[in-house]
Amino acid sequence: MKFSQSFTRTLKEAPSDETAVNAQFLIRGGFISKVMAGVYEYMPLGWRVLGKINNIIREEMNNVGGQELYMSVFQNKETWQATGRWESAKEVMYQFKDFNGKEYGLGFTHEEPLASVARRFINSYKDLPKAVYQIQTKFRNEARAKSGLLRGREFLMKDLYSFHTTQEDLDPYYEKVADAYARIFERVGVKAIRTFASGGLFSKFSDEFQVVAEIGEDMIYVNEKENRAINKEINTDEVLQGLGWDKKSLVEKSAIEVGNIFKLGTKFSEPLGLTYTDAEGVSKPVVMASYGIGPGRVMGTIVEVSHDSQGMIWPEAVAPFKVHLISLNKNTEAEEIYNNLKSSNTEVIYDDREDKSAGEKFADADLIGCPWRLVVSGRMEANEVEIKKRSEKESRIVKISELSSILK
Ligand code: ATP
Ligand code: MG
Repeated sequence: MKFSQSFTRTLKEAPSDETAVNAQFLIRGGFISKVMAGVYEYMPLGWRVLGKINNIIREEMNNVGGQELYMSVFQNKETWQATGRWESAKEVMYQFKDFNGKEYGLGFTHEEPLASVARRFINSYKDLPKAVYQIQTKFRNEARAKSGLLRGREFLMKDLYSFHTTQEDLDPYYEKVADAYARIFERVGVKAIRTFASGGLFSKFSDEFQVVAEIGEDMIYVNEKENRAINKEINTDEVLQGLGWDKKSLVEKSAIEVGNIFKLGTKFSEPLGLTYTDAEGVSKPVVMASYGIGPGRVMGTIVEVSHDSQGMIWPEAVAPFKVHLISLNKNTEAEEIYNNLKSSNTEVIYDDREDKSAGEKFADADLIGCPWRLVVSGRMEANEVEIKKRSEKESRIVKISELSSILK
């Protein structure tokens, strides 16, 4: 993409109402635009990053046998009444009436709708196990939506649901998904610690994936030796004893919850009548689990843990572009490099603007944070280009002909 054609423009200053680093840099860079507290629109640069995060998640979910589907956001009251959650959800669920006075809600999670639709397709033990997921918009009436992409009132969630005959069938699958989660977070470039947390319905705990960061709203206690942690909400002597952990060796940290996986047992299948017939012809409730990740929250988290005073530093796997090419009055040469990179399928943003100073162009490259910066200027030989990693201070001059092998 040519910078001169970009739909968005960068800002020198962050908007004064944004206190979170992720929101400040993402808005300044033109990645997102704020509509109201907790509601952001993804501009082309931000949408590219989000798309890459989603694709990594998608690959790992497909790898554990997840089939992608797409549920509705618009929800029936009756489905939620079946499990008794219509009333208790009022705190978080946007609920409203239509012209006829009929009540509806906007999905903030999808256990009920999934259990409900699964009744049409799961009847026998031969139909199990199954796993489906979606990457879809959720709405939550969040009271404190002031940390940028970390806490949206409208946000994307990847939610996977698995269906099993028994807890014994679920347990190993659950571990497989936990491993897939570890791979997702590694691939997008954040260190996520698997953390014991509350909310396990048919198990003692749920598992959260927590990224240590100052801004995080969760408090966790890290067992560094095992690379595991326990959430403050369940940090009692009894639980620690059960885990065999020594209280004194744990390190207290603020952290961002980027993922959460739950064994649900039959909590949703029973009230909604999601049953199967076993080999003996006996009807039994399906055993379920659900597994969530917030791709937008992950994007905000990456910015929180990977930036410097000048801007964002994207890991290559999720960067909007791999290369940020800058021309300092050498547009003919730069254009050639641009075209060569494009034809070798290297993602490149090319700053071809003629009305910007070198300083402004460098500042924008640092702010946007693509992994590699290339500069062509009159100070170099005709066949040379300056190359610099966003994460490093030193630049060097290389031959243009060497570029493709360096960038590989
Ligand atoms: P929190 O405790 O931070 O409010 P939660 O425990 O309510 O989150 P879950 O219901 O476990 O969230 O949702 C699964 C995942 O969806 C979370 O781990 C997080 O990555 C993401 N998520 C949840 N709420 C939000 C939100 N308001 N904005 C962005 N992502 C969110
Ligand atoms: Mg959670």
